Amino acid sequence: IVHWPFGATRRKLNWVQLAGHKGNFKAAEQGTILKKFSENEMQCFEKLKDDTMHPLVPFYYGTVEKDGESFLHMTDLLANFDLPNVMDCKMGVRTYLEDELVRARERPKPREDLYKKMVEVDNDGPTPQEHSQRGVTKPRYMQWRETMSSTHTLGFRIEGTKKSDGTCRTDFKRTQSKQDVIQVLKDFVEGNVSIIESYLSRLMEIRRTLQMSAFFKRHEVIGSSLLFIHDHTGKAQIWIIDFGKTTALPEGQMLKHNIPWQEGNREDGYLWGLENLIHTLECVSNE
Ligand code: ATP
Ligand code: MG
Ligand code: MG
Repeated sequence: IVHWPFGATRRKLNWVQLAGHKGNFKAAEQGTILKKFSENEMQCFEKLKDDTMHPLVPFYYGTVEKDGESFLHMTDLLANFDLPNVMDCKMGVRTYLEDELVRARERPKPREDLYKKMVEVDNDGPTPQEHSQRGVTKPRYMQWRETMSSTHTLGFRIEGTKKSDGTCRTDFKRTQSKQDVIQVLKDFVEGNVSIIESYLSRLMEIRRTLQMSAFFKRHEVIGSSLLFIHDHTGKAQIWIIDFGKTTALPEGQMLKHNIPWQEGNREDGYLWGLENLIHTLECVSNE
């Protein structure tokens, strides 16, 4: 008897990872994946079980041990699509926690690795002084990076896209203007109006759900993405993923998610970014 591993083959062809370290994910049983364990993300998944956001996030099956490592076991969101097109859109006006900025300031010595990363994206990034010392400090680098992409200006940025024809792009570090983002979105949906309509109605559903969510009110949602997926059958869906940096606020404190961030208020600009994303996608179909 020959067992042809249809499932495994289909999945290998399908699976794509648009962000994070390659070693962070492992394949699992049919329709599921394993993501490297983090205490913080696990706690979020546990809390999300009883929240209105639950249908918007991958189903969480618990933790598993494999080859001596711990993982979070969740739905593979790509599994029900045929040759999916995938886009990762990172939400919010900043992608680091306030705590990370505070910690980065503790030892603000100029670093050459960060200087090089800055020059790689923009040779005019460093100041004359930073150029001459061939170093930038971590807090400086963190804040500068957000101003290069649309994170600051629109409250979201595209991290990567993978299309069904195999083309994969992750070179969006300098995609900043609304016009540039419109072009990326247009290329991603290939001008398909019905896909755009499906995505728009899902984004509005996400907005409605977030506005009612107790979890959302009580968390600083940093570095989380909306994962867009559509295929040639016309199916189009969006899920909320990546809670690695989503952090609970102190008891009794709540966020609005649509007012400007000032250090100390912990606002993440998530809903403001979502508003801008909806408007940007609307522009794609009007172009
Ligand atoms: P980073 O923090 O750098 O964004 P990470 O290690 O936290 O990375 P994620 O952002 O959760 O990892 O996921 C990375 C990529 O893996 C996503 O952009 C997406 O392409 C894919 N991915 C993550 N979770 C799922 C899922 N449940 N189903 C399908 N694809 C997924
Ligand atoms: Mg991510
Ligand atoms: Mg992450």
